[in-house]
Amino acid sequence: MRALARPPVALRSVDIARCVQIARRRKLDMVSALRAATESPQLPPEAREHIHTFLRLYRDAAGSLDSARPDLFVHRLVDRLGLRRQQVFSAQADVVERLVNLARLGELASSYAQRAPHATPRDFARYAAAVADAGLREEDGVGPPPPAGAVQLMALDAAAGRDLDWVFVLGLTAARMPGPRLRAGEMVPDALLKETLGPDDRAAHVASMRRLLHVAMTRAAHGLVLAYPALSSAGVAQPPSPFAEEARAALGAGWEVLEEELFGPEEALHATFQALRDELLSDVARVGKGLGELRFDTDLDVTHAVTRYLELVKLAALIERPEGQSVADALGPVNQRLSTELSPLQREVLATSPLDALLLDAERDDRARAAARAARTEPSLEAFLPRRGDGLALSASDIETYRSCPLRYKFARVLRIPQEPTLNQRFGILVHQVLERYHQATVESLDEMLNLLDWGWRRGGFGDSDEERQLRVKADAALRRYVQRVTEEPVQPVWFERAFSFRMGAHTLRGRVDRVDRLADGGYELIDYKTGRPRSAAALREDVQLSLYAVGAREAWQLDATQQAYLYVLDDEKVRVPSSEIDAGWIADTVDEVAGAILAQDFEPTPSYTVCSMCDYRIACPAAER
Ligand code: SF4
Repeated sequence: MRALARPPVALRSVDIARCVQIARRRKLDMVSALRAATESPQLPPEAREHIHTFLRLYRDAAGSLDSARPDLFVHRLVDRLGLRRQQVFSAQADVVERLVNLARLGELASSYAQRAPHATPRDFARYAAAVADAGLREEDGVGPPPPAGAVQLMALDAAAGRDLDWVFVLGLTAARMPGPRLRAGEMVPDALLKETLGPDDRAAHVASMRRLLHVAMTRAAHGLVLAYPALSSAGVAQPPSPFAEEARAALGAGWEVLEEELFGPEEALHATFQALRDELLSDVARVGKGLGELRFDTDLDVTHAVTRYLELVKLAALIERPEGQSVADALGPVNQRLSTELSPLQREVLATSPLDALLLDAERDDRARAAARAARTEPSLEAFLPRRGDGLALSASDIETYRSCPLRYKFARVLRIPQEPTLNQRFGILVHQVLERYHQATVESLDEMLNLLDWGWRRGGFGDSDEERQLRVKADAALRRYVQRVTEEPVQPVWFERAFSFRMGAHTLRGRVDRVDRLADGGYELIDYKTGRPRSAAALREDVQLSLYAVGAREAWQLDATQQAYLYVLDDEKVRVPSSEIDAGWIADTVDEVAGAILAQDFEPTPSYTVCSMCDYRIACPAAER
């Protein structure tokens, strides 16, 4: 999915959505669905071209997975995909970390290839997956400090205390700076804190982002450049950060519009030149050593080293070719001049080199990229948005998903990429089903409840792993406590899984409340079951779901609930939020803000470790934070 969306394939989102639709309908894996899509009338001819590009890359990469050297494979893959070029000029805020990580991946592959000279890219992929799980040792992950005069990429907070000549602050869109307030990780109970923390609200978030930008802006001794991409990757207009606007207005300056510029084929030439030069220098010592040994193939080694040197000369000639001449046009004459100076064996070795094909591919990909940029009219995903009348159909979980990361929402609700439910998700669904059926049964006994659990466990395909056995024990204990709680509480459960739907402005809000209790004082309590770890009432202050339930009950059922609660079934803990603390204005503003952004097709990712580590789309996401 990631390779499909970005250059050189750059399949438009709307076509990705169509391919996912084909995969879902025909129950195919994604590569098979793409093959099928090339024959489908659903896809326009230019989209099929893009898919063919992907399938060609896929075939090439799959073909060299078991034969190439891991470091060369990674280098060529990064180069073919144009990742570095795309990153440097994309001007997005997360660009720094991605570029650093890309460089680290190359270094990781090189050091792996040195340690395991016979390893293949497939071995390296396994190693990289293990490293991704276990993390890098400090000495593996951190390079030497940059020399004076170098350009250094860093996150805003890393600029603190530095003296820099020039500072370029990239990606200053309003969606990023100050951007949405991200939910804090695990809340630390106040009792465990020595100090008193300031408020954790929107105003505090805005103030902290402002301070962060101030730190970066004040590091520059000679010059400061603030930049933002005026269009998102989907071609939607993005306003600049209000802080950057403030700075601009204070200076009475204007924004200077710059088109995205790439090095084009030159970047591939320079990068390949550098890689070949490094390779040659490391081979020279080995070949030299071989000259002193009594071996039959020494002359072949020397021939390879010489032809490698000639390839460097070829690259230098291409870099210096006349302005305006294409690599394809320059290559023929350069090859001809070189071949006149070669011995027959050198000519033969040079003819088997994949260098020319690599350079021509890079140039072709760059042309395709330039054409894609010129026609940056990414078709609308309108047909795939969850429309209801003039507005959208939204649930609390849709809103939470969008607020946690807009790209995650796009993956889940617009592209509708299928996902396999995790064990914990299946477990949560089962507990909900058991509780619902228990209350629907005419006899609400403990035996009845445990029978339902037994039945659901068998039908749900749960196995016998340690984790599953532990969940089974937890469910058993939790349901016993649940029956006791329901029996002892002075309340009367009156509705279960009750659905609501109502209009808020142009939008339709829907949801389903797990349980509604009539309280002893005649009021009502809306209850949602949870199988995760309990959150405190303070952490639920800006909780969309409970607020939406309260408003939904009033609007759809004309029922004024006096309180809302999450019942954490496994911990037998109920966390209540009184209706007096529900701010209907806040939820209306939130719905308006989220729906407006979805309609504007603003799906810029907001990666963070907390959100990405729980995201089902990490594997498909180009922005995932690891
Ligand atoms: S992995 Fe992270 S950035 Fe990517 S969609 Fe998920 S939450 Fe967003």
